Amino acid sequence: MAKIDNGSVCLNHPNVPAVARCAVCRKPICADCIVKKDGVVYCSAKCRDDAIRTGAMVEGVQESKKRSNSNRMIMNLIKLIILLALIAGGWFAYNKMKDDPEGKKLLKNVTKEVKKASQKVEQTVDQGKQAVKEKGDGLIKDSKYKKEREALVK
Ligand SMILES: [Zn+2]
Ligand SMILES: [Zn+2]
Repeated sequence: MAKIDNGSVCLNHPNVPAVARCAVCRKPICADCIVKKDGVVYCSAKCRDDAIRTGAMVEGVQESKKRSNSNRMIMNLIKLIILLALIAGGWFAYNKMKDDPEGKKLLKNVTKEVKKASQKVEQTVDQGKQAVKEKGDGLIKDSKYKKEREALVK
């Protein structure tokens, strides 16, 4: 093995030129000091063990990430299938009703009901907004806190 950086010497043997660097702590080391594992060079068993631990951790994280990703994909797929089923069912029911005079009437009613319902929802929302507004105004007018403050000022 060739010398690495010019003038680099082994950290443990100041008279011996370094031939490699530890993959973990980057210490220069000589051929005698090299601890090899799976073709990777380390300065010591400690660095080697650190690397193995870190590697296992990284792998574990990647593994669980992969798993949660595939879980999410399956959930999305299930949602998509349910959605498609709903659309297909709705479309099927719609077509069936459209061709059938009774169904046509029903469909009209359903449409009317849906319209009514959505109007009602709008109304409720408006009422809610109004109520919140009135309540808010009332709160400001009758605020105990405000009254107390005013009393303090007087
Ligand atoms: Zn090291
Ligand atoms: Zn050495």
